[in-house]
Order: sequence, then structure tokens, then C-alpha cells
Amino acid sequence: AKRPKLNQTTWILISLIAGALVGIILSFFVHKGDVVSAYFIEGVCYVVGQGFVRLMQMIVVPLVFCSIVVGAASMSDPKMLGKIGGGTIAMYLLTTALAVLIALGISHLTNPGLGLDLDSVVRVTPKAAENQTIQQVILNIIPTNIFAGMAKGSMLQIIFFALMLGFILGHLGSKVGTVNRFFTQFNAVMMRMISIILKVAPIGIFFLMVRTFTNLGFTGVLPMLNFILTVYLGLAIQLFIVYMLILFIFTRINPIHFLKKYIPVMLFAFTTSSSNACIPLNMETLEKRIGVHPKVASFTIPLGATINMDGTAIMQGAAVVFAAQAFGIDLTTAAFLSVVVTATAASIGTAGVPGVGTIMLTMVFTTVGLPVEGVAMIMGIDRILDMGRTVINVTGDGVVTTCIANATGLLKRDVFKNDSIQAVNP
Ligand code: ASP
Repeated sequence: AKRPKLNQTTWILISLIAGALVGIILSFFVHKGDVVSAYFIEGVCYVVGQGFVRLMQMIVVPLVFCSIVVGAASMSDPKMLGKIGGGTIAMYLLTTALAVLIALGISHLTNPGLGLDLDSVVRVTPKAAENQTIQQVILNIIPTNIFAGMAKGSMLQIIFFALMLGFILGHLGSKVGTVNRFFTQFNAVMMRMISIILKVAPIGIFFLMVRTFTNLGFTGVLPMLNFILTVYLGLAIQLFIVYMLILFIFTRINPIHFLKKYIPVMLFAFTTSSSNACIPLNMETLEKRIGVHPKVASFTIPLGATINMDGTAIMQGAAVVFAAQAFGIDLTTAAFLSVVVTATAASIGTAGVPGVGTIMLTMVFTTVGLPVEGVAMIMGIDRILDMGRTVINVTGDGVVTTCIANATGLLKRDVFKNDSIQAVNP
């Protein structure tokens, strides 16, 4: 007989809160360099937490590759792909631009940088963003060596090659039946691997949270509190107003119900701060719980994890106002407009791994002539912002994916309505 068990969402939530609490308490007693820090925080917590993140990262490349090949191969109608691809990219860009506008707007109300004493700031030059020209960015989508692209985890290159491969397989059909079956079956194997790894998620998440909160402590956070709250307010508006409205208007499904079913992905994003690490769980949840057809999710989610970062854009918009106020620099309307464009571009260029959004922030600051020392200040508290913005980054992908699935008739409403499908694992 099956014994009733707490579902995975509950377990993840419990370990997240417990980990944060333990971390906050430890932060008062544990200091860098002492025994507890060396053996427990940087030893046990680091290895177990990071080990779990690495397990998730381990399957990203093979999973993304296979699922896109299988998805593209089953897309016999090229018009459908145009609709999915074009619609997705347009929605990704629009939601990001909107996110920056929201951030700029509320920052003008909360004034995150006013009254900050910048002389006390240690002037460290932050790591600069890689300066890539537009031409290079475009060319870089085409891999010169697909194995090198996979080894580096260059998501756009993997997507590009997998799409071509999938189309050709779809076209040749039964002539290449063996290859087709290989990818379909390998995909199933990868899905099984995710469900096995997910079983240890609560343990990994607990240790990740303990380490993060112990290391952050309170002293570094206090002066930046207004800025942190501003970013979180922006993230909340994007989540509860923008996304919920978009969902309702485009799909007519109940947004609250959507959130309930989607919460494991958000918690996972919060603890790992990595959109890439969320790809497998995001796809799985959208397919099994929300009812999005794998054809859609397998393409839009890896793409979104790479180019759609609304949370990162919100942080960058708020950071511009923060630094301008903290350094007493007046920004023109033209400067704000260029923030919308560069923050959207920067979020496209941001890789879905922890902390990159803040490195890309130097690009935004340089464009509008703000001192990059401001970025260094933000880096000190980056983890707190990173956790929140990654939630929005992945939720934005999930919301757009659901809308696109609905628009193309690939949203199974019976799956969405069915509450008994609780466990993410089959
Ligand atoms: N950590 C974010 C993500 O993976 C990117 C960022 O640093 O903003 O989505």
C-alpha cells in the first residue's frame, strides 16, 4: 500500500526556511576562519549544497540538447515553429523592457541611494563585463565546433545545432528511424535522471541556505536595505501584477492556481540562483503540472534561461537609480531611455548562473556614465538580490511558455486542472 507522504513542494519549502533560520542564527556566532566556519560552513554545507547544484547542472547540456532535437523533429509544420519562436522571443523582450521601466519607476519613489555615505565605501574595481560587439554576439550563435560549444555550455549554440538536427531528423522520418529512436529514448533516460536527482533536493537546499545566510550576516546588509527592498518590491510587482495579468489575459487560466503548481521551480530558483540549473525542473513542471506540451517547453525554457532575465533587468534598473542618487549624479531622460535598452540587452547577455547579472551591470553603468564603484558596493550583497531575481527570471520563462503553448493549442487544460498531479516525478 502507498503511504501518504508530504509532497515535494512542502519538503523543499521546509528545508529552505529551516536552512535560512539556522544560517541567520549561526551568522551571529560563526566568523570566517574559525573552526565551525572552516569545517561546517565551508566544509559540509559547501560540499553537500554545491554537490546538489552540480548534479542539476550535470544534466543540463544533454537534456537541453536531446529535448530540443526531439521537439524539433516532431514539429512537422515549419509555420508552427515560426509562431512559437517568433512569439516567444517577442514576449521575452517585451516583458524585460517592461521590467526595467517598473524598476526605474518605483526607484524614483523609494529613493534607494539617498543619504548613503559613499566615502565609507571600499573602492574595489569590480570585475568588468566581457565587452562583446553586437556582431560577435550574433555570430556566436553559430558554433564552429558543436562539441566545444557543449563543453562550454554555450546554450544558444546548443539550441542552434539541436534545432537544425531535429528538423532534418523530422524531415527524413523513418529513413533515419534508428537515430530518431535514439534521441527519444535518451531523452527518456535523462528525464529519469532528473527525478532521481530531485529526490535529494531538500537536503541540498537546506545546506545551500545555511551557508548563504551564515556568510551574509547582518552588518553588510543594513546600509543597503532600502536598495534591497526596492529591488524586491520591483520583483513582486513583476510577479504578482505583470505576470498574473499576462497569464490571465492570454490564457484565461487561474493565475493563483498556476503559482501553486509552479512553486517548486520558484523555490529551487531562489536557493540555487541559477536559471540554468532550473531548466530541467522548469520543463518537467510545465509539462507534468501545467500541461504545456513538451514541444513548446523544450524549446522555450532553455532559450528563456539564456536570454530572458526580467528579474536581472529589474535589479539593473534599480541599481542605476541607486548609484545615481548615491553619487549625486543627475541622469537625463535620454540616459534613462538608454538604460531600458542596455539593461534589456545586458539581461539577454547574462548567463543563467549565479552573480552574472551584477557583472553585466558594469556595462549598463558605463553606458550612462555612472562610476563602476557602485557595482562593487552592490556585489557585497549580491547573493540576496540574486536569489530573488532568479525566481523572476525563471517564472518569466514559465509564464511566457504557458501563453505560447495556449496560443498554439499546445496547452493541455485537463492536466492544469488536475490537482492530483502533485509530485513532479511520475
Ligand atoms: N543568477 C541569475 C540567473 O541565473 C542571473 C543573474 O546573475 O542575474 O538567472
